[in-house]
Amino acid sequence: MTTTTDTHCPYCSLQCGMRLEAPHGAGARVAERPGFPVNRGALCGKGQSAGELLAPASRLSTPLVRERGALRAAGWDEALDRVAEGFAAIGAEHGADAVGVFGGGGLTNEKAYQLGKFARIVLGTATIDYNGRFCMSSAAAGNRIAFGLDRGLPFPLEDIARTECLILVGGNPAETMPPALRYFRELRENGGTLIVVDPRRTRTAQQADIHLQPLPGGDLALALGLLHVLIADRLVDTEFVRTRTTGFERARSEAMAHWPERVEALTGVTAGHIREVAHLFGRARTGMVLTARGPEQHSKGTDTVGAWINVCLAAGKAGRLRSGYGCLTGQGNGQGGREHGQKADQLPGYRSIEDPAAREHVAGVWGVAPDSLPRSGRSAYELLDSLGRTGPDGVRALLVMGSNPVVSAPRAAQVTRRLRSLDLLVVSDLVLSETAQLADVVLPSAQWAEETGTMTNLEGRVILRQKAVEPPAGVRTDLWVLRELAARLGVDRGFPDDPETVFEELRRASAGGQADYAGISYARIRAEEGVFWPCPAADHPGTPRLFLEAFATPDGRARFAAVTDRPSAEVPDADYPLHLTTGRVLPQYQSGAQTRRVDALNAAAPGPFVELHPLLARRLAVADGDLLAVTSRRGRAVAPARITDTIRPDTVFMPFHWPGTGRANTLTNPALDPTSKMPEFKNCAVRVEPARDAAAGPGAGVRP
Ligand code: SF4
Repeated sequence: MTTTTDTHCPYCSLQCGMRLEAPHGAGARVAERPGFPVNRGALCGKGQSAGELLAPASRLSTPLVRERGALRAAGWDEALDRVAEGFAAIGAEHGADAVGVFGGGGLTNEKAYQLGKFARIVLGTATIDYNGRFCMSSAAAGNRIAFGLDRGLPFPLEDIARTECLILVGGNPAETMPPALRYFRELRENGGTLIVVDPRRTRTAQQADIHLQPLPGGDLALALGLLHVLIADRLVDTEFVRTRTTGFERARSEAMAHWPERVEALTGVTAGHIREVAHLFGRARTGMVLTARGPEQHSKGTDTVGAWINVCLAAGKAGRLRSGYGCLTGQGNGQGGREHGQKADQLPGYRSIEDPAAREHVAGVWGVAPDSLPRSGRSAYELLDSLGRTGPDGVRALLVMGSNPVVSAPRAAQVTRRLRSLDLLVVSDLVLSETAQLADVVLPSAQWAEETGTMTNLEGRVILRQKAVEPPAGVRTDLWVLRELAARLGVDRGFPDDPETVFEELRRASAGGQADYAGISYARIRAEEGVFWPCPAADHPGTPRLFLEAFATPDGRARFAAVTDRPSAEVPDADYPLHLTTGRVLPQYQSGAQTRRVDALNAAAPGPFVELHPLLARRLAVADGDLLAVTSRRGRAVAPARITDTIRPDTVFMPFHWPGTGRANTLTNPALDPTSKMPEFKNCAVRVEPARDAAAGPGAGVRP
């Protein structure tokens, strides 16, 4: 007998609908689910091959504990006792904040919620954050400043197909979420204009009407230049600015100092192109700006997002049908993961942990005193950088759930050293990831189709990933682990391991917050193919489109951001003369912990590489495939050359999915945005030269 289950992809924020067919006693097969509106049956290669993740060969199936330097198999009681006793002892000796929690943007809403609750009321620690901080935090901050609310897209994806002019800044859906590309193609088929801004002529840029190719770090100046032209050429929608916004004068003065010729000198984008794009966008009846990691992963990421939102506001392209600013979130639950409490400064419902009313509401749901809740903790990189340090700010123990910072964190060699210096590192994961390999205790967790839970996709649509198969024997869910640890640490109520029960509590905890899920239930999601938040009541239809009548600010008006252009934290010089930018390739996903275990994906993208322009290759006297050493102030990586004229001659690109000698994040700069605390993944200064140590080639440490 074959069971058929409608569920969703384990990977990115599109959360494509798929059907899993699981013959009794055999593996699961991915099939189309044409009725789900976001992807209408289409899947990329990652989704199509996701059934391989369920094969037991690559899975952890028993807890592991470290003994005399090596990991050995252990029973669940032994592993959980060791974790609980260690957390209790370290908390007692060094204070509650010395025990930290590091979550992930791929965790279900239920897990993210329960993890935040576990940290605050079981461990009593303020030390919790998650890898989603590295994904969308600058866009989240920019959204909240301008609109008073952060949802990746304030409209469904289908609206993209019907806008007249769309500027996509630093996003490459052709490689990161191919089924979404259909909406961009339809936009052009409908007569619209697609403009892509990217230092690389990506597969997405190749499909655009206009491609602007600024220097890495040039997006803020470029947006100021566009605003300058809108103002100078009288393309500002003055009625919209007057009635629906505040702060235009603040934005205007900085923009007036960025005339097109000056911006050309700063970014490499010609003054003619700047004028052309400003006119196309300004004159269109409807328009959108979408940003992704390209402009966001910078030490000026929040201001860059603000500058692009300013362009939308000046042109009157926000808070109207088929117009607005949006962010293409990356991780599977990058949206929901930031709404329900695993972020250092938040409580469920997108509430601020510093807001007395929010503390009182959530404490009431949790049955604790508001004063017992910790305050804001430190951001993801700050947390990782404090691991193992002595003194009042040092973190001595860490629980990692659904993250692999050894590969994905900036300045990764330093982060690895810090992880090694902990007194107790506990990792819950489905495979022995590079971070799990360093752990003192490894807890094998169920994944994706082995458990039920909700996710919130990049549109703010809450969907239900339904369990389709049983996890391997010996594996437990993260909710079960949290229940067991809570009980061992003296909290034997409030930590159910049934996801729907957790979701019912999440609904109450989020009620009245910005991300209000009170009216969403598993039954509704099944019946309606997802429900958009905010949805405050069972009879509320959900909110596919935000801001059509008012923005979520106290006065209902959008706020122009007061932004100032500045250089990136690190700019090329004589010692490090090139820009390095990093990103993803189509067959791999994030740190590769899952996709590097899928044969077809590995065959398509087996290892890291350094993309460089033919002019640079000639200067270095290297040919395609030659090993290159890329060195920054933080370390050195070695990977083969991939020569292409789609990149600027002053810039090299490396994908970040691999550990070992080709790890891109060995090089990246942890300089943080002052508001979002986003590290500067997308721009650092490097030196590139032929590698003489061919033996330490790119394959080292690549395969699991
Ligand atoms: Fe999965 Fe994203 Fe590919 Fe869709 S686009 S199949 S969600 S990885």
